[in-house]
Amino acid sequence: MAKITLQGIAYDEKSSFLKGPRLAPPLIREAYHSNSANYFSEDGTSITPDLLNDKGDYSISEYFDIDKITAKSLEEGNPVFTLGGDHSITFPIIKAFQKVYGTIDILHIDAHSDLYSSLDGDSFSHACPFYNIMKNNLANRLVQVGIRTLNSEQRENAKKYEVEIIEMKDFESTKIPTFQNPLYLSFDMDALDPAFAPGVSHHEPGGLSTRQVINIIQGINVPIIGADIVEYNPKRDINNMTAMVCAKLFKEIVSKML
Ligand code: MN
Ligand code: MN
Repeated sequence: MAKITLQGIAYDEKSSFLKGPRLAPPLIREAYHSNSANYFSEDGTSITPDLLNDKGDYSISEYFDIDKITAKSLEEGNPVFTLGGDHSITFPIIKAFQKVYGTIDILHIDAHSDLYSSLDGDSFSHACPFYNIMKNNLANRLVQVGIRTLNSEQRENAKKYEVEIIEMKDFESTKIPTFQNPLYLSFDMDALDPAFAPGVSHHEPGGLSTRQVINIIQGINVPIIGADIVEYNPKRDINNMTAMVCAKLFKEIVSKML
């Protein structure tokens, strides 16, 4: 019996620099099913396909259709896992979650805080989702980890909305707080150092290792009700190695959702 709802959002219209993340969902699935690895997460859980109700990949023409698609996925009452897509998709996804769960806690792992009010004239750019989430009061608590690109505007917005940021320069795994409420995890692949995940649009050196990210996931102390993996850009990948990292993190996160 399926326990997790899986949806792919093939959308990269709000990417500011390079397109490509719309191509990601089928390649992450392919890496997850690859014969080069098994289905087990490190805690000994077999993350087999029968645990997943896979809705397939949606190609999106209207940005806010993502809200409706996610609302439909949530109707099954299971945690919903989204494969992106660029990071703009997280705002409409969280809108749908808020209608079901009320204001939730969010753990956001990324090189970027994505707290711009607008970028290149687009207030729904992939640089803006967490500004929109906080402005619309959709999160009770937003904790950001791995950030290493803050400018003055984003620092001001973080202060205004009381975003808790663990900047990469100060990162220690012991600084990750414990949570009190069900959690949504939003994972931008560029949080990882480009050495570990070259398949992203924005290479930001000095990032997290794959091991550090897995340790963060394994340390989460509350149920995960929803998650996304976004910003994988297959056009920049080398030998599908970043797709394999996505698949690995997918298994580790699903294991925490069960
Ligand atoms: Mn992002
Ligand atoms: Mn990013």
